[in-house]
Amino acid sequence: MGCRGPSRSTYITGSVSVVRSSHEESYSGFITLSVCEVCWSSEARYECGICKRRVCPAHYNSEKGVCAICYENLCNICGTKIAVDSCIICGRLVCRDCSVELQPGIRVCRECYANIDRILREEPRLSYVSRFLRGNKKVDRN
Ligand SMILES: [Zn+2]
Ligand SMILES: [Zn+2]
Ligand SMILES: [Zn+2]
Ligand SMILES: [Zn+2]
Repeated sequence: MGCRGPSRSTYITGSVSVVRSSHEESYSGFITLSVCEVCWSSEARYECGICKRRVCPAHYNSEKGVCAICYENLCNICGTKIAVDSCIICGRLVCRDCSVELQPGIRVCRECYANIDRILREEPRLSYVSRFLRGNKKVDRN
């Protein structure tokens, strides 16, 4: 060890042979390769129907046609739109269409809203919700 071996640098200066491939592959209809915008490692093969992210099969829900991120944020009622908030009564994620905004930032899903009088009667811990109802006079603003 410590012995310097013969430093041999080999320079290959041969002529570069240009290989002309005889078969030219047809790229027609071939979409541009892109990387999944969720994991940034796999090849994207699908496009989210909501956010238009391009995602790999692992991050695509073919049933809903959306990416994994949108899927986690889908409205729990209609299952097709992105939720904007959660119902203050049942806690489910709800989109604009499936909820009623009692006050700014206070949303109740349509299902709870339909039964809100009974729910508030039966759930004393939710009595504070009636405060929002009174302020809003139960007007459906959608
Ligand atoms: Zn991915
Ligand atoms: Zn998406
Ligand atoms: Zn919805
Ligand atoms: Zn609800």
